[in-house]
Amino acid sequence: MTKIKLHNKYFKSYISAEKIKIAIDNMASLVEKECKNEVPIFIGILNGSFMFAADFVRAYKGNCEISFVKLASYHGTSSTGDVKQLVGLNENLEGRTVIILEDIIDTGTTLEEIYNIFRHQNLKQLKIATLFFKPDVFRKALHIDYVGISIPDKFIIGYGLDYNGLGRNLADIYQLTTHKMTNIVLFGPPGAGKGTQAEVLKDKYNLKHISTGDVFRYNIKNETDLGKLAKSYMDKGDLVPDEVTINMLKAEVEKNADANGFIFDGFPRTESQAKALDKYLEEKGESISGMVALEVPEDLLVARLLKRGETSGRPDDQDESKIRNRFNEYETKTSILKDYYANQNKYFGVDGVGSIEEITERLSTVFDKL
Ligand code: AMP
Repeated sequence: MTKIKLHNKYFKSYISAEKIKIAIDNMASLVEKECKNEVPIFIGILNGSFMFAADFVRAYKGNCEISFVKLASYHGTSSTGDVKQLVGLNENLEGRTVIILEDIIDTGTTLEEIYNIFRHQNLKQLKIATLFFKPDVFRKALHIDYVGISIPDKFIIGYGLDYNGLGRNLADIYQLTTHKMTNIVLFGPPGAGKGTQAEVLKDKYNLKHISTGDVFRYNIKNETDLGKLAKSYMDKGDLVPDEVTINMLKAEVEKNADANGFIFDGFPRTESQAKALDKYLEEKGESISGMVALEVPEDLLVARLLKRGETSGRPDDQDESKIRNRFNEYETKTSILKDYYANQNKYFGVDGVGSIEEITERLSTVFDKL
């Protein structure tokens, strides 16, 4: 499924361009049959109907005219309130068959205003055609003559329809996603087994694993600017500056806009990173579901890291003084995050000593609840 982001909201695909085309072709031939001996004038309501109107008249085989109007409101006197006016109507419609082309009709309020303006123009007949119709919320006594596709009360964009100006150019229709992501901070000191466990859990729970350490190492290997910057800090076992790390993390999340959620591994590592992450997720209508922490005694960790250093090729795993520095960074800057999440009732400690399978089992018990 394709997911897209417009402003701060996510939308998932809903109605394909092919389905839209079939609906429009059917509408056009129906209207054609009923307008056999006349030249109707179609009036598209801007902005939303521009795509529908174009495809509709392309599918309409008889002679016809097309024009567009826009409903504008201006402030009247205090007794008249807001006054609605149609902008752009130059044709003389007297005695004509007029068919209004709407992209979508929901409550019908706008349509009613438009209808009332046209009603007073001595038309032969006035009909309404809409590509999308929301019967559940339609509140007016008006008769809708032609409906392309009826939909439940969902917020949709694409094919002329917008969310704050964006999305009109999409060929398909998308709907707003209300589904919340599962976002887990997998926490613990260096060597606690976060990476190993994340690899298993990401598949089990269909989440995207983002390890900031891995992203840095990838950049170092590829000698990117980011890699060159991070290397000096990482080689010593120091933390990379917050601003750099936060921007990188956001870019990784953006790359995976359609994920069900994330396992953050090695992030956040400072209070400022945690705050930035909360703020960033909040802007998307998302949040951290929980911090799941692997608790392992330090002595065991040093032994594990030195062992890993024999094969990992990581310079920061091979030297005990660098390892100690990483612990020091953890103790002074990172471990306080336990309180940060505990204060939000989001801290879940898990015993990180045992076999990989045993620990996965313990973590799963917590993941299942989040
Ligand atoms: P890791 O693979 O998680 O052990 O990370 C290895 C190194 O990458 C750390 O010692 C830091 O130098 C750097 N790093 C990874 N994540 C972060 C982060 N969130 N903030 C700052 N530096 C980080």
